[in-house]
Amino acid sequence: MLEDKNPQRTPLSELGEFGLIDHLTKSFKPKQKSTLKGIGDDSAVLDFGKNQVVISTDLLVEGVHFDLSYMPLKHLGYKAVVVNLSDIYAMNAMATHVTISIAVSNRFPLEALEELYEGIETAARLYDIDVIGGDTTSSTSGLMISVTALGTLKKGSEVLRSGAKANDLLVVTGDIGGAYMGLQVLEREKEVFKVNPNNQPDLSMYTYIIERQLKPEARKDIVKLLEQLKVKPTSMIDISDGLSSEIIHLCKQSDLGVDLYETKIPLDPQVIATCEEFDIDSTTIALNGGEDYELLMTISQADFPKIKGNPNLTVIGYMTDKKSGMHLVTRADTRIPIIAKGWNAIKD
Ligand code: ADP
Ligand code: MG
Repeated sequence: MLEDKNPQRTPLSELGEFGLIDHLTKSFKPKQKSTLKGIGDDSAVLDFGKNQVVISTDLLVEGVHFDLSYMPLKHLGYKAVVVNLSDIYAMNAMATHVTISIAVSNRFPLEALEELYEGIETAARLYDIDVIGGDTTSSTSGLMISVTALGTLKKGSEVLRSGAKANDLLVVTGDIGGAYMGLQVLEREKEVFKVNPNNQPDLSMYTYIIERQLKPEARKDIVKLLEQLKVKPTSMIDISDGLSSEIIHLCKQSDLGVDLYETKIPLDPQVIATCEEFDIDSTTIALNGGEDYELLMTISQADFPKIKGNPNLTVIGYMTDKKSGMHLVTRADTRIPIIAKGWNAIKD
């Protein structure tokens, strides 16, 4: 037996996902001149002269990120690509290429993987990107999919998490909370199905939120819209982990505080209705739900007239100085500190 040279055993839950990444990577200092932004943003940004390349990677694991009992493989393939493209758009870049790596057990027949790739192909077609490679290997514990996405942007047009300024407006695209509530409905139906497999549920009143969970879209349109409106956000991040977690990232990396207004958070009527049905507070879901793949950005107040009234963009608060802290201003006009309870792969 191998001798245990390292008797100290620190549980990963002590660090949490972000603590772990920081801990493991703190000694990595970029040495290449081309590394404009390495670890710590939605994508890395590489400067190759006239053009800049952005690159991002994600790993999806069966049983952790998806459940094949209600996630059709076609949707899974689509989603695996889209969530990566979202990280490219969050840099204000256009996605161009992806590589796809899979680890698969022999529980899957060829037809299942064909379905997975149908989804990948559909995403590649709709988002106008090329699939340029990957890797295939076997797995003893379910399906794993890793996607790496590349994109480009003009020099100087990248938007990092760290560029927000005090008094900037905090803006979110679309509406949030849908993906999480869609998952709640799917989980409930799975339990019902276990008890009564002949039950055909009527999910017609949940179509929007289920689609938000099973077939999310990345906001390529927003990158184009911002260009048309001639608005360059001062910072941007994609909302994969819930609003509060992403707001905290922007604040920490920009060294600022924030006032977020509860009444301004955009919610679809289906999210509100489903929250009532499940007896959950919709603000809690918007703050902590995750997987909405909308973009959260800060813009200078001078740009407000350019975005005013645009149905895609909602002002939900503004940035303050660091010592004011990060707060949710509630409907009752009280101030509650914002804390991250979002999706955290390692810490429960
Ligand atoms: P996102 O939620 O946008 O996918 P993550 O929270 O996964 O981002 O990652 C935050 C940052 O840490 C990114 O810059 C990512 O590339 C980097 N990162 C994540 N995991 C690792 C790892 N195991 N080794 C090195 N860098 C990592
Ligand atoms: Mg991200």
